[in-house]
Amino acid sequence: MTDLTSLTLADAREGLAQKSFTALELTDAHLAAMEKARVLNAYVLETPEQARAQAKAADATIAKGEAGPLAGIPLGVKDLFATTGVRATACSKILGNFIPQYESTVTSQLWRDGAVMLGKLNCDEFAMGSSNETSAFGPVLNPWRREGSVANLVPGGSSGGSASAVAANLCLGATGTDTGGSIRQPAAFTGIVGIKPTYGRCSRWGIVAFASSLDQAGPFARTVRDTAILMRSMAGHDPKDTTSVDRPVPDYEAAIGKSVKGMKIGIPKEYRLDGMSGEIDRLWAQGADWLKSAGAELVEVSLPHTKYALPAYYVVAPAEASSNLARYDGVRYGARVSGKNIIEMYENTRAEGFGAEVRRRIMIGTYVLSAGYYDAYYLRAQKVRTLIKKDFEDVFAQGVHAILTPATPSAAFGVGEKGKADPIEMYLNDIFTVTVNMAGLPGIAVPAGADKQGLPLGLQLIGRPFDEETLFSLGDVIEQAAGHFTARKWWA
Ligand code: GLN
Repeated sequence: MTDLTSLTLADAREGLAQKSFTALELTDAHLAAMEKARVLNAYVLETPEQARAQAKAADATIAKGEAGPLAGIPLGVKDLFATTGVRATACSKILGNFIPQYESTVTSQLWRDGAVMLGKLNCDEFAMGSSNETSAFGPVLNPWRREGSVANLVPGGSSGGSASAVAANLCLGATGTDTGGSIRQPAAFTGIVGIKPTYGRCSRWGIVAFASSLDQAGPFARTVRDTAILMRSMAGHDPKDTTSVDRPVPDYEAAIGKSVKGMKIGIPKEYRLDGMSGEIDRLWAQGADWLKSAGAELVEVSLPHTKYALPAYYVVAPAEASSNLARYDGVRYGARVSGKNIIEMYENTRAEGFGAEVRRRIMIGTYVLSAGYYDAYYLRAQKVRTLIKKDFEDVFAQGVHAILTPATPSAAFGVGEKGKADPIEMYLNDIFTVTVNMAGLPGIAVPAGADKQGLPLGLQLIGRPFDEETLFSLGDVIEQAAGHFTARKWWA
């Protein structure tokens, strides 16, 4: 039998339907692969018993001809999602052994459709980071290494465990969240596909909040089609999240293979950075050529406020984070460090429970929201955000269907290599992705090439609000031209 872990999600679905193998066999193959790949540190919790029970239940529905759209498909879940009876920590010490009493809407929809949970995936603490090095569980390793090198690379962040697990065949797909790039950047660093849906497309209920006006859940998988399949189950209106939007969920998979002839694709000139590597530049031009060969029309567009996006994001996101994280006080959740009185207990708990990056964000956020600085920082950043959104609206009003950019300014970097002396060095990873969250738009990252050391590089497509289908159609064109990227196995 072929290695069940290397199937695409679509092929596994077919194999299950044809009864070529059972859901239990598929799940067991993944559990065995996870056990051998612990060096990657992708999973912070494996849930084999639950996985086998779900797989058996899926086999029963398949036998009865009542299988859901994801029946028997083994998935990993970012540890930011609440999972009933299964520890959820946001990879922070402050949540300790927190065991939620409820399930996030997104994951409950995956289980409703028959998917199997293999375990919880590592991420940056409270999803703050671009390398998965801020996790209380330690860094995740990228399954990719530079040619001829044994140096460990980061998988990107914050959803680094999700990306690494999918790229290393430790699940057929995974959930992630993206506040400033945390799905798209790790997808690009590991040679897989990740999509951040339009703000409001997936419910945020039951997902640990980082910056509520920017956070959005989305899928990772090894092909564009597989992400489209997962998206259909994850998306949808939820009365428990007032920002979730009540519109029908399309059959995203139907967008795969659809002609992109006549589509207008914008190339934003402001994304051509000074000092950008020739490799990224060539990848971008190659992507544009592929879309052109498929019948799309390429046009240069301008998004004039792009250069303000990163600084504005690093005001808005910490501001919201400082407010959201106020609830971790040692009283209601997880860890508690005692003190002489309640104030000291709060202080001790928060000082010990939060890692350095999270403390930095809380301090920045508290500062920009404080009386006297609110207008100068927070209010101004919100105004910049409106201008960034308007830039995109103007481009779409010119008849542009989607915008093509690089996903990241470089390939994956080494563990411990960036952001030690200057956190801004790390923040610069998000230069091409934060604009999309600021504007609430959908964005997909698709692997499109390799750098000279053999590491995968991704392209990003940005769409109109709620037009994920166009991104799937265009992403598929790039994938067909670029082929697939598989890391050489060194971990098992
Ligand atoms: N790297 C960005 C940050 O640290 C984005 C993180 C995310 O999207 N969750 O804020």
